[in-house]
Amino acid sequence: MPRTHFIWHLFASWCALLAAVLAGCSWLTSVELARLSDSAQFRRMSDVAAGLTKILPVIGNTVDPEAFATLAREITQTALVGIDLLEPSGAILAEVSTTTLNAESAAHWPTSGDAIVSEARAGRIGHTSRYDPVTGKRMLAVCVPLGPIEKPLAIVRVLANTTEQDRELFRSQRTILIGYLALALAAAAAGYGLAKRTARPVQELAAAVTRLAGGAFETPIPTPELAELSSLAAAIGLLREQLVERGLTIGRQGSQQEAVLGSMIEGVLAIDARQRIVSMNLAAADLLGLDPSIVMHRPLQEVVPNPDLRRFALRAIDCSQPLEDDLLLRGLRDRTIRVRGTALRDLSGDGGAVIVLNDVTDIQHLENVRRDFVANVSHELKTPIASIKGFVETLLDGAADNPVDNQRFLTIIAKQAERLEAIIEDLLALSRIEQSEGERSLPVERVRLADLLAAVMTDCLPRAIERSIGLQLSCPDALEAEMNAPLLEQAMINLVDNAIKYSEPGKTVWLTAAHAEHAGVGMDEVRVSVRDEGCGIEASHLPRLFERFYRVDRARSRKLGGTGLGLSIVKHIMQAHGGSVTVESSPGIGSTFTIQLPAC
Ligand code: ADP
Repeated sequence: MPRTHFIWHLFASWCALLAAVLAGCSWLTSVELARLSDSAQFRRMSDVAAGLTKILPVIGNTVDPEAFATLAREITQTALVGIDLLEPSGAILAEVSTTTLNAESAAHWPTSGDAIVSEARAGRIGHTSRYDPVTGKRMLAVCVPLGPIEKPLAIVRVLANTTEQDRELFRSQRTILIGYLALALAAAAAGYGLAKRTARPVQELAAAVTRLAGGAFETPIPTPELAELSSLAAAIGLLREQLVERGLTIGRQGSQQEAVLGSMIEGVLAIDARQRIVSMNLAAADLLGLDPSIVMHRPLQEVVPNPDLRRFALRAIDCSQPLEDDLLLRGLRDRTIRVRGTALRDLSGDGGAVIVLNDVTDIQHLENVRRDFVANVSHELKTPIASIKGFVETLLDGAADNPVDNQRFLTIIAKQAERLEAIIEDLLALSRIEQSEGERSLPVERVRLADLLAAVMTDCLPRAIERSIGLQLSCPDALEAEMNAPLLEQAMINLVDNAIKYSEPGKTVWLTAAHAEHAGVGMDEVRVSVRDEGCGIEASHLPRLFERFYRVDRARSRKLGGTGLGLSIVKHIMQAHGGSVTVESSPGIGSTFTIQLPAC
């Protein structure tokens, strides 16, 4: 902050100059006045002495001291000076000064050796002033020669004290000083006005710049008359334009950056050297469960509960190379986050780090599913292929010659081949459904449910009869839904087939279709359920039941010709229709599989 205002600076300089000039003038005036006063007094004293020398009677070459004393006393009464008559040598002939002056003061003046006496002896008028220790005042003395100049007969000495003269001098000096002071006051007032006038445009410019610095870019810049200030104002105007332009650019960049960060799926988190959060996009806030308006500018160590992430941030700030790690974030649903950290180095030397967070839970899950799928497919294919290979080798080794073994082995090979075919067909079906699900290109039409379910019954009836299972269908005639009929028929056949497979002979399977309102959403849907009185499924298996190759009882499924893909196919068919499939089951009582389809 500045210590002195411009106006006061100008005013103080002006006052200092004024004071110096006034002091100088006062001193000069006072000295000159004193000199003038002295010279006037000397002149008066010389005139008195000269007048006296003219009227003094000179008899021969001598002056009568008595006559001198008489004349001198008369003059002394009016002129208020002391007059003495001295011999040319300086010795006193007649002393009259004591009538007006203090005798001691008069006596204090040396005579013969005095410079002014020598001057008078030489025919000139001598004068001097001197401090009188008796009265403590200044005293003046004049010596005038009497008689011929080349050889004076006597010397008239006039003495005067300066009391009255000094009093007058003091009065004059005081009057002049008062005049000077009045002038100084007027000059100071004028100087103040001038300083104010000079400082005003500077103050106006300073105020405009302050408003500009505060962001008020529309502030008008004053245009002072002074050339230098005018160019300063022009420069400030130029600066304002650049500031506005730069501000707009920064604003644009800021909103672009905000838009980019906001639209990123990856979470982006920036921290400074003290680990305070300086920037955070919505994705990062979502991933970490933080509220940006609360955690902004607070230390990461305080707001992030995960210790691994806190450690990672510390390492990222200090690392010269980008870091990468996978962290587990615990929560309602555990998530795996891939974090990449890069240290920030700005020009001020303060560091920090940018951490990019990527939720790879789904990717990892998919990767696991893919790995399991490959392992499961290999495993599923390996058993029938090994069986076929084994029996073919046995036949080649000679069993072909034995008609009984021959027939038995060939039947087994055919059965295993059928199994291979079933698995491959199911896999191909799954792949087709997934493809149309991904492309959302499933062709659909409005279909009457009663017709479709009747076709399913017809298809499943032979197997039901074979296992002595009763089939019951209940479906309103008018019930319709948008669907891909062949795929939905396949899904229903899979469900009814399972119900028949996993039920004991003599039991019944119910196929029921109904129109329903989706709870809470207010959306109409069609529900078709397949209920059986079979073995039922333990609750622990239900969450994974619709996964590929997942079986509750592997041996039983294989024995019954199951591929472990049936329910997975149902799930994907329903997803491709924008519907779903659910299961309710109680071991020993039975299971109900229900599909939901959006109603027309
Ligand atoms: P699978 O070809 O083995 O039947 P699915 O995918 O159709 O394969 O069924 C997966 C598993 O779910 C089956 O192995 C079986 O254990 C169980 N399951 C399916 N439907 C039923 C049902 N109606 N009753 C009891 N268990 C069933």
